[in-house]
Amino acid sequence: MAVARMCGVLLIGAAGAALAQQPPARPDTPEIKSLIEQTRKAAGPTWEYAVHFWCEEPRPNRADDPIIEPTRIFDNVYAIGNSGTTAYVIRTPAGLLMIDALSANQVDSQLLPGFQKLGLDPAQVKMILVAHGHADHYGGSAYFQEHFGSKVYVSAADWNLMENPPQRGRGPAGPPVPLPRHDGEIKSGEPIAFGDVRVMPVAVPGHTPGSMGFIFPVRDNGAAHVAAIFGGAWLTPGLLSDDALVTYLNSVRRFKDETTKAGVDVLLQNHMLMDPIQPKLDRLASRKRGEPNPFVIGADQYQKFLGVMEGCTEVNIARRKL
Ligand SMILES: [Zn+2]
Repeated sequence: MAVARMCGVLLIGAAGAALAQQPPARPDTPEIKSLIEQTRKAAGPTWEYAVHFWCEEPRPNRADDPIIEPTRIFDNVYAIGNSGTTAYVIRTPAGLLMIDALSANQVDSQLLPGFQKLGLDPAQVKMILVAHGHADHYGGSAYFQEHFGSKVYVSAADWNLMENPPQRGRGPAGPPVPLPRHDGEIKSGEPIAFGDVRVMPVAVPGHTPGSMGFIFPVRDNGAAHVAAIFGGAWLTPGLLSDDALVTYLNSVRRFKDETTKAGVDVLLQNHMLMDPIQPKLDRLASRKRGEPNPFVIGADQYQKFLGVMEGCTEVNIARRKL
């Protein structure tokens, strides 16, 4: 068992301990306000809420984030989870590939019921890619490994984080969760071929030392698109050290380059809090023939989204220099 860390602040006791270490927030200077305005202007109206979330009012995922309707969002991709944290299942002729596995205590309440509702067999999950080593992403993976023989892959740095969690002190510690067996490591730039899908991992350290982004093809009514998940987006900047924030900023810039090269036009996130998932699922549910898929946003808008992440990270770096 490992003492699990979550992406944000989930436990009241631990949250209190974490918050006690944060200096009281100071009001933004005119320079910082202007940096936020620049970010807002560059992003355009589509990302108004994302700018507000990341630059002004971020919040962690929470245990009571409403459960989403498990949904087939592309011909070959399914979303299961809740409005704060989502796992994705990619269907291929070789079986199912799952990206993230929610929390250990969400296997029975969200993950398995999701598979059932979607008519997917969880025993077909051959591989689980964990985007980063926090328990709200890997928590459910040991169950799949034990019951279905799924192989669990995490970056080497985040295996280390999971297997040797730092002592409590900075950031909250969650409840103990079962640690998956160390099946394999995800390496940045080394594509993972699985069935008819090739997932390209891109290291995006910052939120954790071994956070990964994933780029992979999806099909929408037969039309080819390219999706990306920046798998280690911060939700509460207070949990990152000054160095980690700078590392993160560089990761966002690298991910911009890689996703531009790959022609990414589909935005998926494992925490879709800054770009709420439920309205998209609602639109998909009532989608008529010929209407666009709400997850397909276009290459230009995808880069603007990453621009918000970049701009608001710069804002948080500037705040620390006050
Ligand atoms: Zn996390």
